[in-house]
Amino acid sequence: MSSIRDLYRDSKPVFSCEIYPPKKEEELLRIDETLTAIGKIHPDFLSVTYGAGGSNAGKAVEIASFAKNKCGLEVLSHITSVGFSRERLHEGLLTFREHGIENVLVLRGDRPKLMTDEEFNARDFLHASDMAEYVQKNFPEFTIAGACYPDKHFEAKSLDEDADHLKLKVESGCSMLISQLFLDNSLFYSLLERMDKRGIHVPVSAGIMPITSVKMLGTTISLSGTSVPKEFSDLAARYADRPEDMKKAGIDYAIRQCQYLLEHGADGIHLYIMNKPALAEEIFSQIRPRYTGSRY
Ligand code: FAD
Repeated sequence: MSSIRDLYRDSKPVFSCEIYPPKKEEELLRIDETLTAIGKIHPDFLSVTYGAGGSNAGKAVEIASFAKNKCGLEVLSHITSVGFSRERLHEGLLTFREHGIENVLVLRGDRPKLMTDEEFNARDFLHASDMAEYVQKNFPEFTIAGACYPDKHFEAKSLDEDADHLKLKVESGCSMLISQLFLDNSLFYSLLERMDKRGIHVPVSAGIMPITSVKMLGTTISLSGTSVPKEFSDLAARYADRPEDMKKAGIDYAIRQCQYLLEHGADGIHLYIMNKPALAEEIFSQIRPRYTGSRY
């Protein structure tokens, strides 16, 4: 069974992307087509999100299995402690193993809108690090990834406090990290410095989301809380009334971000492609040949 952690040793930089189980019925009907198209792009791995409060959360296993077993993709399945008891987590991990998936991204998750404080606080695993510890103890063959935040997680009091918690996450079993999306590369390098100071030495893939519309910029900022550099806000202002130009400029910006990161030693690029294989195709085809020598 292959571990995606080994990719960082054997074929760095690692190119990956992320999809989510669609909420819209028509998108869900086309998900096999979407996965087949992603399979043809050959990312080093595909991560499949899990929405604790989403009605289609159950589809995550099905989607991950199709990607792994029908499209030949290495899969990293997200699991959240919110919405999962210890027993359900255990069953979920057994199911992943039955489907040949032994890579998981452990996450605490956010509180779904309809969940009360009491339900949220009653979760078995308070932090992602608690889940990492459980997975490592009970499923030692699994590769465990964790999330990290260049802008800091919104609940953390400071960047340093967040980095201290990140150290705990890694000590609890996360052998690789994927970052929250960011638009300002200097934030990513500051995070790497904080990690270095604390002796956290695991590969980190930089999370990049191509922002293809002004509306998407607003949603992305409110969901991720990342800051917007002047270069990007100028660009959004310039193309506010020209959607096609904005789309192109957003993709070009993401490509420039990736190029800079790869030239400055990033371990990997993790693309948030919003279930659009064409975005992965466009961006990877521009950056991969240059940094790996192969078209794919
Ligand atoms: P944690 O690592 O538990 O951290 C949460 C907060 O608690 C932070 O402020 C941290 O500093 C603090 N903390 C951590 N450990 C301790 C400790 N021991 N003591 C005190 N404080 C502590 N959400 C989903 O619902 N589904 C997904 O599929 C999903 N995928 C994601 C993928 C990536 C790459 C990223 C970056 C995020 C993803 N999220 C997903 C969002 C994530 O669930 C939220 O950001 C959530 O608020 C925090 O999750 P975490 O695993 O980082 O939490």
